[in-house]
Amino acid sequence: MITATTLSDFNSIMAQIPKGEKICLVPTMGALHQGHLSLVKEGLAITPYTVVTIFVNPTQFNDSNDLANYPRELESDIAKLESCGAFLLLAPSKDEIYPHSSAVAESEVRVRHKEPFDLDRLDRFGEGPFRPGHFQGVAQVVTRLFDIVKPHYALFGEKDFQQLAIIKRVTKLRNYNITVIGVPTVREPDGLAMSSRNQLLNSAERKASINIFKSLSEANTLLKEGGYSPKELTTEISKRVETEPLLKVEYVELLDSHTLQPVEEWSKGQDVQLCIAAYCGTVRLIDNIKLS
Ligand code: AMP
Repeated sequence: MITATTLSDFNSIMAQIPKGEKICLVPTMGALHQGHLSLVKEGLAITPYTVVTIFVNPTQFNDSNDLANYPRELESDIAKLESCGAFLLLAPSKDEIYPHSSAVAESEVRVRHKEPFDLDRLDRFGEGPFRPGHFQGVAQVVTRLFDIVKPHYALFGEKDFQQLAIIKRVTKLRNYNITVIGVPTVREPDGLAMSSRNQLLNSAERKASINIFKSLSEANTLLKEGGYSPKELTTEISKRVETEPLLKVEYVELLDSHTLQPVEEWSKGQDVQLCIAAYCGTVRLIDNIKLS
């Protein structure tokens, strides 16, 4: 695998790909785990020309501590991608992605480069209200990476369900001829969704974190038992999560899987996603499952 840190190196390697070959893109922020690698493997099943990017995008962070503490481990990431068989890694500096931004503060970068995307209310609930500007920052960096890599396919995890929906929306909105593929969430054996942030958990927090997925999974059983309105169900799941004193729920919401609007009444055939954000100690974790 080749690692490029500048766009000019990246472009000269991409120019060597034979005409007619398909290109897959897997954007990440690094600190790679099996969840990321499952995206790479899905990409490699489509084409050997699977490109991974590692860029901790400042414009999608609404909390400067979160940005500062975000794990960065390029050396071991490169080793993982090599053993996976990825074609090329682009690990650019901020200046390569956002030229002329180095002299301005992170928050200003977001404003200066912000070209608001019409997200069609997909950011209205779930993560949206708790992370102002986050999805605009995601849309900004993903479209920038689309322009740089020019892939035929781009792979994203269902772990970030709302992000996946928003990227599909933006891809259509900006007329990219790119197929966006969602990849199922990879979990630890105890059910915790893999995340780069998990390594920030101490051992007591790590143990407590199991209760997030455990409680989400109980929703399907409760539904089968019947008698719960959507509101009662989210309240009950929230309560169950917080039986672990180290967990503090930010939201538990039932959202239509396509429109991401709140589900207020059950209706037959509707695809519904149960979404959660919770603090485990100081670490913010998100997860979601499809109700079945
Ligand atoms: P991140 O590095 O957190 O920005 O994630 C990069 C990509 O990996 C995103 O498309 C995520 O949705 C995806 N991803 C992160 N965690 C997982 C997981 N546990 N399973 C599947 N995909 C994941």
